[in-house]
Amino acid sequence: MSYDVAIIGGGPGGYVAAIRAAQLGAKVLLVEKDKLGGVCLNRGCIPTKTLLNSADKWQELKRIAEYGLCAENIGFDFAAVMARKDRVVAQLQGGIVQLVKSNAIETLAGTATLLAPNRLRIEHEGGCSEYEARKIIIASGSAPAALPVPGGDLPAVITSDELLKIEAVPRSMVVVGAGAVGIEFAAVFQAFGCQVTVVEMMPAILPSIDGDLVKRMALILRKQGIKFFTGSKVAAVRPGADGVIVEVDTGKGMQQVPAEKVLAAAGRCANVEGLGLEAIGVDFTRKGIKVNAFMETNVKGIYAIGDITGEYMWAHAASAEGMAAAENALGGNTMMDYSAVPGCIYTTPEIAAVGLTEQAAQVAGKAVRVSRFNFAANGKAVSMGEAEGLVKIVTDDAGKVLGMHILGPHASDLIMEGVIAIRNGLGAEDIAHSIHPHPSLAETVMECAHGLS
Ligand code: FAD
Repeated sequence: MSYDVAIIGGGPGGYVAAIRAAQLGAKVLLVEKDKLGGVCLNRGCIPTKTLLNSADKWQELKRIAEYGLCAENIGFDFAAVMARKDRVVAQLQGGIVQLVKSNAIETLAGTATLLAPNRLRIEHEGGCSEYEARKIIIASGSAPAALPVPGGDLPAVITSDELLKIEAVPRSMVVVGAGAVGIEFAAVFQAFGCQVTVVEMMPAILPSIDGDLVKRMALILRKQGIKFFTGSKVAAVRPGADGVIVEVDTGKGMQQVPAEKVLAAAGRCANVEGLGLEAIGVDFTRKGIKVNAFMETNVKGIYAIGDITGEYMWAHAASAEGMAAAENALGGNTMMDYSAVPGCIYTTPEIAAVGLTEQAAQVAGKAVRVSRFNFAANGKAVSMGEAEGLVKIVTDDAGKVLGMHILGPHASDLIMEGVIAIRNGLGAEDIAHSIHPHPSLAETVMECAHGLS
């Protein structure tokens, strides 16, 4: 059978590419070996955000008296929390299946291998079939990396995939890696009564986030009871009374941390294996498949998008790349623009960032101006009882926005002012002079911008 575009992988990169290609009139084949929605829907963004919401509501319930409300016999049922997560995933899964169907995209459950630049072999339940496609988009995503230390293969050492299926809250857990994934899981499980210890190799947690926000976030997480070893490495894991003992090399000596579970959250590996890349000469490294600004690989007509490229490992980046690749596969000329890719961490409070941090701007030798505004001075935040955090805007000398960094309630929504400002070369005064509703959390962004205009 022959198609205009065949897409390998039905995650937020692949299924969005398929929809865009179909919208442009193409005959599309979407191949998925597991479930539509990929990591994001099934083992990533959505299940974690659902658990974080339960954890957040549980924490809020414990301080319900602050709002003048009474609640007795409060508690949680972890099995029900996990069941809700599964229901949310299933509901959204149904939505994607419907979306794909309504765009007349042909889907095939199976594992695809490239045989030639325009031919695929697909292993499926009934056997094996070959398909032709004028263009192919690889969107095979990524998988959690193992913990590469002695004892890293013990049953107590698990990945995010396994933690999302856990039946009971462990008494204690060591999280290896303080990036977005590690910190979100740390927050969820600490909230539900697990003693979490986070080990991070870099000098501070959340290494890509602006230093001012990290300092405040570390305090908040410590207050929640999470313990940290930064500038430290897990050297080994060995069996112990409570499960395992994690040997942590702090640089100043070894520490032994007993834990029931260890979460390996220090990185992800691109799913390059089994795709047949070598046979047809697609250029890739261990990090992922190399592409140009049009998402095309070195082999004409083969594109790669999302986590498989090993660059911007966010669902929204995968989707944007998917749209660009679909357009280009069908004769378009869409170049990716990464000047304003937001990154969000859905803890309480949330963190959201776009563009340059103050530290990165300094390293790049740029003369910058900085403004900060605290949520404590925002009427809406105070009335919500969520006044912890700040907005920080970084501009160049002329006031053009280079970066926006938010720690606070609904940061992942508020950050869009920064995304639009940076993408369109706007200045702080463009934000400051736009009338913001009152009372609103967005006023924090306006007030912060006033500090620069
Ligand atoms: P994937 O989502 O990995 O999908 C790839 C698909 O390809 C998979 O379904 C796989 O089964 C299929 N596949 C692989 N090989 C083949 C083959 N040979 N044949 C057929 N099918 C194949 N990002 C955010 O933006 N926000 C978040 O809040 C967020 N939270 C996260 C939380 C966790 C715990 C994790 C692990 C990740 C999170 N991410 C988040 C990252 C996000 O999930 C990924 O960036 C995103 O899923 C990448 O999309 P993708 O389409 O490139 O690949």
